[in-house]
Amino acid sequence: MIYTILDCYTDEPAGLGVPPYLGTYPRYVAGYLNEDVNYITIDDLRLWKKNNSIIKETKISQKTDITTYNLTINHKNTEKILQETDQLIIILGIHVPGKYLSAVPGTLKEIIPLIKDLKCKKILTGPVVFGTQLFGGKFFEKADLSVFDKVNSSMFNFTYDKIKDYAVDGAKIIKQIPDYRMIEIETGHGCDVGKCSFCIEPLKNKVEFRDKGDILKEIAEFYKLGCRFFRLGKQNCFYTFPDAIDLLKEIRKNCKEIKILHIDNVNPVKVVADRNNEITKAIVKYCTPGNVAALGVESFDKEVCKQNNLNSSPKIAYDAIKILNKYGAGRGEHGMPKFLPGINLIFGLRGESKKTHEENMKYLKKVYDDGLMLRRINIRQVAIFEGTQLFEKDRDKFLRKNKKYYWKWRNDIRQNIDWPMLQRVAPKGTVLRECYAEIYDGNTTFCRQFGTYPLIVGVKGRLALKKFYNLEITGHMLRSLTGKLTMENEL
Ligand code: SF4
Repeated sequence: MIYTILDCYTDEPAGLGVPPYLGTYPRYVAGYLNEDVNYITIDDLRLWKKNNSIIKETKISQKTDITTYNLTINHKNTEKILQETDQLIIILGIHVPGKYLSAVPGTLKEIIPLIKDLKCKKILTGPVVFGTQLFGGKFFEKADLSVFDKVNSSMFNFTYDKIKDYAVDGAKIIKQIPDYRMIEIETGHGCDVGKCSFCIEPLKNKVEFRDKGDILKEIAEFYKLGCRFFRLGKQNCFYTFPDAIDLLKEIRKNCKEIKILHIDNVNPVKVVADRNNEITKAIVKYCTPGNVAALGVESFDKEVCKQNNLNSSPKIAYDAIKILNKYGAGRGEHGMPKFLPGINLIFGLRGESKKTHEENMKYLKKVYDDGLMLRRINIRQVAIFEGTQLFEKDRDKFLRKNKKYYWKWRNDIRQNIDWPMLQRVAPKGTVLRECYAEIYDGNTTFCRQFGTYPLIVGVKGRLALKKFYNLEITGHMLRSLTGKLTMENEL
């Protein structure tokens, strides 16, 4: 039996699998199949269909084609591989719509015509089994799934006693990816506090954590295969993991040459409840600099918090931001502060009004005026998924009502908070080390460090892509930076 995994990439509130991240799903499925599997990406498939698997050069007037950028070592043989395949396992699902610098996730609408003529058995899995939506402010994507022989949710949701082995065996797919990847590591799932109106995490999973030893084994396997960039990002709150401090300590002990060790989601309530701030201190000590705790604040408007059962109040969110700054604001050797909060805001929640924006601005201004730093403010319009409280009641009522304000609100935050904040986080003259050149847009090269929410730096001229550079910051756009090569030049 010849199996091929087609990775169309995944992005969920807990867990990222869009390049340069390698998500957990294709790895676990590869481990489960327990055979040699072909791993191809949606980019390989597009390149075959669009251009007969031939890579086109990006002319100086053009932008890098990010729809065919993340190719595997199999890209020249995509057609042959698919013709020989008996079972094609398609991994897909975007639950947190976003824009990606160097990748475009596949959608159901895109993928169905591309695969419908293939003779093999087609199995669809991944977060898509709960719906998918690449764009915020919309309902999940509906499509005729009859082209698939099976929509398999058990492959999407293996239990941790199975993942224990699958995660280690499945690490082998990294050998089919020629570029660097940030390895997204799972520590747990479910949510012990949340009943947030929009969130599907509690619907997908009961609260459960992976065994620390299993996580260490998985990381050791990737490390052995040459991976050096890791994010403990697949969980809804890193602070909730029972052995958080020991886990970090042991990763650093076992993987001496690790370059990036970051985390992702954090519940503000848990930062405030952390006794003597021990977890915060351990993260600063054992993770690498440039780390960000993405705090699910969602709204600073008490009324919205109440109507959507949000887990943290504005006051708790502010306190968590302050604690993280106290321990993490110092600058690390890579040029970025060691560990900062990032916050997520959502538009379109129940009870949203003009006052919501006023409250958001009030708190964000306070954060800035108090000398604190935020690494990023992620603003998105809610995506509405079946089964959530929001789907059951009100649905897109507030989205429709307030849509006309969103550009203005967002722009207010970008101009008056993000921009001055960016100048504080990465002032002119800062040197950001080991920035990876990812794409061209005309005569500009866009680079960023590996890590969780790295800043994008635009450099004039065309640097060789997929190489690392040290960049000195020369200016600030609303959410990105301009920079120039330092004397040290290419590493
Ligand atoms: S705290 Fe809320 S948003 Fe976060 S995982 Fe739990 S239910 Fe979802």
